[in-house]
Amino acid sequence: MSFTNETHDPQLRCWLQSAEEADCEFPIQNLPFAEFRRQGSNQAFRGGVAIGDQIVDLAAVATAGVFAGAAQQAAEACAAPALNHFMSLGKQAWSALRLALSRALRQGAPQEAAIQACLVPQDQAEYSLPCQIGDYTDFYSSVHHATAVGSLFRPDKPLLPNYKWIPVGYHGRTSSIAISGHCFYRPQGQTMSPDAAEPSVEPCKRLDHELELGIFIGAGNAQGEPIPIQNAEDHVFGLCLFNDWSARDIQAWEYQPLGPFLAKNFASTLSPWIVTLEALAPFRAPLMRPESDPRPLPYLHCASNSAQGSLDIELQVLIQTERMRKAGQAPEVLATSNFVHSYWTIAQLVAHHSVNGCNLRPGDLFGSGTQSGPNPQQAGSMLELSRGGKQALRLRNGESRTFIEDGDTVILRGACQRQGAARIGFGEVTSTVLPAKTLQSKTLQSKTLPAGQN
Ligand code: MN
Repeated sequence: MSFTNETHDPQLRCWLQSAEEADCEFPIQNLPFAEFRRQGSNQAFRGGVAIGDQIVDLAAVATAGVFAGAAQQAAEACAAPALNHFMSLGKQAWSALRLALSRALRQGAPQEAAIQACLVPQDQAEYSLPCQIGDYTDFYSSVHHATAVGSLFRPDKPLLPNYKWIPVGYHGRTSSIAISGHCFYRPQGQTMSPDAAEPSVEPCKRLDHELELGIFIGAGNAQGEPIPIQNAEDHVFGLCLFNDWSARDIQAWEYQPLGPFLAKNFASTLSPWIVTLEALAPFRAPLMRPESDPRPLPYLHCASNSAQGSLDIELQVLIQTERMRKAGQAPEVLATSNFVHSYWTIAQLVAHHSVNGCNLRPGDLFGSGTQSGPNPQQAGSMLELSRGGKQALRLRNGESRTFIEDGDTVILRGACQRQGAARIGFGEVTSTVLPAKTLQSKTLQSKTLPAGQN
């Protein structure tokens, strides 16, 4: 089965010069979606599509009536301040708009002047979350991450017996998910040191990033109706970068027996651009598992998923400490990995999530789980890179890190590259850690500020 069409042709040329530059994140074959407005304005957020260093303002495209039929209807849906309605329209609507944009952006397209009039430079834009995220579910789909973390606690038996049978996940929280550029306070919480008699409340000492992909659900399913794996991808709108911040010391004390809670719900950061599953078609890959692993249960298995259910997406984590920033030094790479190493595919996550009849809704978000690769340098978290905090990482400027410190900015990047296909970039997601705002400092502050200002 072929997933590619004329919009993936690497020979396509765009009339916009910046889209033609080598290493461009957003060439004409990409066309990712975001919600944006002009920086510092009080304009309404509306949907846009990235091309080169510009944004095609889809509200302006809809008003100008550049397209007709399904593409026009889809552009109208994108004029809203959240993409949920557009996501709910399903694959045919997403594809119709992608095809119309692709044709209108090609060299010699009769719509060039009309689209030109709808462009906003990316460096003059600000972004919001792309949709209202109803529910957020976090998975644990990298067997290399699960094994590395498991071996810190159970060296003899790192993987729990369920891992290769069931895509492990938990329900997270959406209120603290923010868009790239987010600065958040270091969480405080209850922790229990091994040598202490009782727990205490203090700022997290083991703050960690998680290199994840965010997976947005498009069309949902009715409650009680599981999504068959064969159709699972029809329910997926697209992917973005996702830093799912974690407080390892809080997690260690609180997680038994019900699992992740306050260690996981204080901040997570999304990249603004959603790359559609359609744009990723040239980067499909077979699902690779050792022969000796169990064959997935029927609801998690189908031929097309085994043959091309994985995605070859290169991922990177970088750090820029406060000292690096002040010295004007560029961010330093902490790790590189690839989503192709994921043990479970996106289709399997969707099929599993709905097998019990759970209804997914347009705009729901899945976290893929930390995407670590087979080599130790491909670790998607500090917990792995520092071997549970035992080995400090030396940075080029002489600083060292076991976990993330105040003032550090963590950056995730992603891109797909392959012979015979255009490069598809994800852009980046950045977030910066501020010193903890503890209960004590809040109390002090409220005493010194006039009423109503704390
Ligand atoms: Mn996570």
